[in-house]
Amino acid sequence: MRRIALLTSGGDAPGMNAAIRAVVRKAIYHGLEVIGVRRGFSGLIHGEFVEMNLSSVADIIHRGGTILRTARSEEFKTPAGRATAARNLRERGIEGLIVIGGDGSFRGATLLSQEHGINVIGIPATIDNDIPCTDYSIGFDTAVNNVVDAINKIRDTATSHERTYVIEVMGRRSGFIALEAGLAGGAESILIPEIPYDLDEVCAKLIRGHKRGKLHSIIIVAEGAASGLEIGRIIREKTGFETRVTILGHLQRGGTPTAFDRTIGSRMGARAVELLMAGESNKMVGIVHGEIVTVDINFALEQQRTIDRDLYELASILAI
Ligand code: ADP
Repeated sequence: MRRIALLTSGGDAPGMNAAIRAVVRKAIYHGLEVIGVRRGFSGLIHGEFVEMNLSSVADIIHRGGTILRTARSEEFKTPAGRATAARNLRERGIEGLIVIGGDGSFRGATLLSQEHGINVIGIPATIDNDIPCTDYSIGFDTAVNNVVDAINKIRDTATSHERTYVIEVMGRRSGFIALEAGLAGGAESILIPEIPYDLDEVCAKLIRGHKRGKLHSIIIVAEGAASGLEIGRIIREKTGFETRVTILGHLQRGGTPTAFDRTIGSRMGARAVELLMAGESNKMVGIVHGEIVTVDINFALEQQRTIDRDLYELASILAI
């Protein structure tokens, strides 16, 4: 293997730049040429290729987002789109491709490999942390810290005004951000799509807390569980408490990546290059119990990443 390419795809995640830097520098260290593809699979189809060198990744490790940009591409979901992408890679003598993204990006990557024999390696990056076979995806830790930061700030005003705050966080299909941030932020209740909840019980808990003299309450809602605005309205109606709703939205994705996300981005990026050099394909890297692991992408895509119910229980107990 002499020349490899890399791209970022799907939703951006803080720490993607650390992974890009690691891929580029590790590959150059081993004498490989590295091509960056802009705008994910769309750039692969439309020929947005840039040569990467040591200085193209200078001063990016601390930046959120992705210097390669990211995009979603409907065209890549078609066999014709993938054929064009493969031709573009071949014409440039590129033998291996590293895809930094979520499970959708991995599905696309593995099709490119199966249909056209391009060696692909996936690096999990999504703030949702919903990719199976890895404890963490790049970006999750930063997103959780962003949410905890917001909870801390909202707490100050919540205490001053003795209000109930509902905070809606990202997670259309999963409650990983809500659960970890809710636990770390000391939320009274955490509503996530994976676990049924009873709003009467949530309200009863709020009333119990109020009677005990609690100055404020914070409810975290994953967007996939319910609309924060709706939950706020119901709580207001059922309890009579002054209730405010904050939807954190894209604030959660931005900002400088945490040391953890930079570290796993660097480690995963380096391992991905090693895998391509060893002739591997259709693999994703992950981190399990602190160790970098390699998993078959198709196997991973068949698995379901499940929420840690013990953690959920603990959060409920501690918010009694
Ligand atoms: P993520 O990678 O964050 O899960 P998406 O699900 O939006 O984000 O996927 C990113 C891109 O990956 C899509 O825009 C598309 O180009 C490609 N992709 C997703 N699913 C498939 C699929 N089943 N077949 C081919 N390509 C896909």
